[in-house]
Amino acid sequence: MDAQTSLLDRLFDAGLLIDTGVEGLYGRSGQFEDVIAAFERYIDTFGGADGAEAIRFPPGMNRAYFEKSGYMKSFPQLAGTVHSFCGCELDHVSLLKSMDDGTDWTGEQKATNIVLTPAACYPLYPTIAKRGNLPAKGGLYDLQSYCFRHEPSTDPARQQLFRMREYVCMGTEQHVTDFRQTWMDRGVKMMAGLDLPVEIDVANDPFFGRAGKMLANNQRDQNLKFELLIPITSVSKPTACMSFNYHQDAFGTKWGLNLEDGAVAHTACVGFGLERIALALFHHHGLDVKQWPEKVRKALWG
Ligand code: ATP
Ligand code: ZN
Repeated sequence: MDAQTSLLDRLFDAGLLIDTGVEGLYGRSGQFEDVIAAFERYIDTFGGADGAEAIRFPPGMNRAYFEKSGYMKSFPQLAGTVHSFCGCELDHVSLLKSMDDGTDWTGEQKATNIVLTPAACYPLYPTIAKRGNLPAKGGLYDLQSYCFRHEPSTDPARQQLFRMREYVCMGTEQHVTDFRQTWMDRGVKMMAGLDLPVEIDVANDPFFGRAGKMLANNQRDQNLKFELLIPITSVSKPTACMSFNYHQDAFGTKWGLNLEDGAVAHTACVGFGLERIALALFHHHGLDVKQWPEKVRKALWG
């Protein structure tokens, strides 16, 4: 059995994650959720004084915004769309018959106006653009959402529905790159406070196809994405538990995000993979939270 399956099985056995029969789709126990809640409060102790505006979107977003975002150009393999039955009574009869026959009943399902949110910040950009120019000090937002990515796996750190906590910064190039550096430094400090071993490395997004290879290389060459990695199921391939992304003025241009003087805004975001951080804690400190080092318990629960 490989390390991924064995950790997943141990999490099921301990009742921390609950099997649903689908890879990457799990229930969470109260204890697992308590670790995530404590870690989110821990984030607040580092970022709370920055005065970010908190906004919570549901895990589905406006399909028109999703289409405009270009997600299907870059990551069609990961997207999830919401489809519903929109037929008449006759269609209903044939749907039920297909189900009874065990043939495909989903073909007639129609796309709704909702798409599953792929990253917590996606619904933010059009929302902020609608408000008009940014204030003189720029914009800073605190987000958290369940996100969907179609990447079924037996690695418990690669789920299909997982939570991302994010801070998003909008402003001048200097302002948003300073923001990103601040969070890279904070991320290292935060994980040290939880006795988790980390390294920071340059990274790229999983762009689709052959053209995607060029986009990925470009992203790396320009240092647009960094990740904070913690070993969970592999030491040689540690898991990305935070990411630090500088979008230059790409989102500013796409969504019409402007500074107070009308110039196009630059944007950056930092994301915490909440399940991955909880799993890193369970992997390094054991499945019984009561046995975690006093220092770690104190940092999380006071
Ligand atoms: P990876 O390279 O591991 O697939 P990513 O580059 O896709 O990660 P981002 O798009 O930057 O990750 O997402 C922000 C954060 O969300 C990641 O740093 C990670 O902690 C978390 N995350 C991403 N994908 C998953 C997943 N499938 N399951 C759990 N957490 C995830
Ligand atoms: Zn990914």
